[in-house]
Amino acid sequence: MNKPNTPVIRPKMPCSNPRLSLLFSLLFFLFLPSLVYSYDTSSNDFKKYMSVLEQQSTRYGWKDINPAAISWEYHRTSKNKHPLMFTCFGNAKGNCVLFLGGVHGDELPTVHLMFKLANFVKDNHVLFKDKCIVIAPLVNPDGFLATLPTRVNAGGVDVNRNFPTKDWQASAIRQWIARGKKNKRYYPGSKPASEQETLFQIALIKRFKPQKILSVHSPLNFFDYDGPSSDLNSFEQWMEKISKEANHPFKKFGYYPGSLGNYAGHERNIFTLTLELPSSDPRNGSEYFQKFQPSIMKFINLPVVGSPPSIKVIDN
Ligand SMILES: [Zn+2]
Repeated sequence: MNKPNTPVIRPKMPCSNPRLSLLFSLLFFLFLPSLVYSYDTSSNDFKKYMSVLEQQSTRYGWKDINPAAISWEYHRTSKNKHPLMFTCFGNAKGNCVLFLGGVHGDELPTVHLMFKLANFVKDNHVLFKDKCIVIAPLVNPDGFLATLPTRVNAGGVDVNRNFPTKDWQASAIRQWIARGKKNKRYYPGSKPASEQETLFQIALIKRFKPQKILSVHSPLNFFDYDGPSSDLNSFEQWMEKISKEANHPFKKFGYYPGSLGNYAGHERNIFTLTLELPSSDPRNGSEYFQKFQPSIMKFINLPVVGSPPSIKVIDN
């Protein structure tokens, strides 16, 4: 998709009287920065994007993701003008769990898994009516839709090294040079939060204030987690159990300057789980959904009390 939609600004001005209209206009522009810009998902541009996703899905043999059947919302676009979209199910008032897929555009089955999850939650919405589930299945559409899919976004930035963490200025570029040997796949950007995809994830965290986040990656084949230091032990015990049940290794991988685990888990005390799938082969998406669906459901249902930083897992 090359052309952006025209953003619709909410709320609409509800008047026809010229004087009132002027007053509304004045108030409107005064408060403009605090209003939410929302793109129209019934526009032709958005429909075109849905068909681009469907074409790509056909290419990968994904017959069951049906992106057009989900009710999406988006407020920003990527560098290549692709919608940075998400969907929200249940009751958005609290205890949210946020799911992120396709943060790295070449980790193809992560996108399939998250679209499958969105369809599953939609089809079984009664089961989730008391939950708040936010799913952003494709955080980095430019990388995913590139002729040869890329880990980085269209600006050449690793979106999982671009979060504005406290250690970014001192360490992100330095570590990329020293440890990463300037590997372009891990470039953290010229400054923190420089990328729309990073701002998109930050906006979701700020708006929905999730207690739990699950970000799906591939192909390192393990569970990893970051979270509140006050209660990391109970989360670790829960993770050990889940890892055994799913027969999927779990390890403490640590976090990087600018990574989600650092920004959300370490700095904001949100239970942040990374699911690294065993491969990046797009044909394995359905198999991975079957394998990890029970763990994902348990993660959704894992009771967490309090809000960051005083937050605790209650596992029976
Ligand atoms: Zn990744």
